[in-house]
Amino acid sequence: MTALLEVEDLHVEFRTRDGVAKVLNGVGYHVDAGETVAVLGESGSGKSVTAQTIMGILDTPPAVVTRGAIRFHGEDLLAASEERRREVRGDGIAMIFQDALSALNPVFTVGFQIEEQLRVRRGMSRKDARARAVELLDLVKIPNAANRVREYPHQFSGGMRQRAMIAMSLALDPEMLIADEPTTALDVTVQAQIMDLLREIQQERDMGLILITHDLGVVADVADRIAVMYAGRIVEHADVFQLFRAPGHPYTESLLESLPRLDLKGQELKTIKGLPPSLTHIPSGCPFHPRCPRAVDRCATEVPADHRLGLDRTSACHFAEEVVSRG
Ligand code: SF4
Ligand code: MG
Repeated sequence: MTALLEVEDLHVEFRTRDGVAKVLNGVGYHVDAGETVAVLGESGSGKSVTAQTIMGILDTPPAVVTRGAIRFHGEDLLAASEERRREVRGDGIAMIFQDALSALNPVFTVGFQIEEQLRVRRGMSRKDARARAVELLDLVKIPNAANRVREYPHQFSGGMRQRAMIAMSLALDPEMLIADEPTTALDVTVQAQIMDLLREIQQERDMGLILITHDLGVVADVADRIAVMYAGRIVEHADVFQLFRAPGHPYTESLLESLPRLDLKGQELKTIKGLPPSLTHIPSGCPFHPRCPRAVDRCATEVPADHRLGLDRTSACHFAEEVVSRG
C-alpha cells in the first residue's frame, strides 16, 4: 500500500558564506491517513526544514535539495511543477505554525482570510464563503463564531488565534496537516486544549498529522509514532509505546530522562550535556558521540547505519539492539 506521505532519503544543504551547512542528511519517514506522527528534536535538528521542504516553501535562497524524494500518494513532489505544488498546498497538505500572529495577516479580519482561500481556490461566492468560514470557526470551537468571524487577529487571545489558524488550514479540506510547534507559545492548559482539538479533527477527518515539537511531553498522548531527529537525521523511529517503554537510541534515552515524571517527584531532572552540533561542522562518525553517555572509540569514526529493531522500528546506533533490550 502506498503511504499518504513518504519522505525518502532527503538531503538539504544551506550554502552560506560560512560554508555548507548540511541541514538534512538522509531524512526518511512516512505518514498514513488517520495517523499522527510526532517529529521530535532540539532546535536546529532539521524538523522544520523537513516540513518546509515537504510544503515547497523552503524560502532561504541558498537552500538546495541535493537528494531524496517526497511522495504524496506516490507522486514525487520534488519533481512536480510549481503549479502542481501550489495545488497540493492547502488542498493536499496544509501547515500551521507556532506563531499564529505572524501567520495571520493583521490587516484583514480572520473571516476574510478564510473566505479568500475559498473564493480563490473553490470559486465560492462571498456569501457561501462567509457561511463556510463561520462553520470552520465553529468546528475549532471558537465561541460565538458568527460574530468573531468579523474580528481581526489581534482581537483574539493566543489560544483562539491558534484555533483560527487551524480553521484556516482546514478550509480546503486537506488530507494531511503539518503542525510546526503549534503550542509552544501557549500556556500549559491552552496547549493541552489545542492538542486535543488537533487530535479530534485528525480522527474525525481521517487525516494524516505531523506534529513537530521539541517537547516529548506534549506529544506523548496524541502521537501514534515518533521520529526522533538529531543533526538532520532520524536517529530513532518507533511506535510511541515502544519508544517510551524501551528507547532504542541513547539520544532518545536522554530525552526521556529529561522529562518531568510524577513518580519521581523531587528528584533532579537529568539534562543532556553539551549542545546540538553546528551543522557546518557535524561531528565525524555518529553525530551524537560528543554528548553520548554510551560512546566508545568506534563511534567517533564510524557512521552508524539504521538498525532494524522490529517492524517499522529503527535506530541509528551501533549498539541499538543492546540499548533497546536494556530498556
Ligand atoms: Fe552513542 Fe555510539 Fe550509539 Fe552514537 S553510535 S548513539 S555515540 S553509542
Ligand atoms: Mg523549528
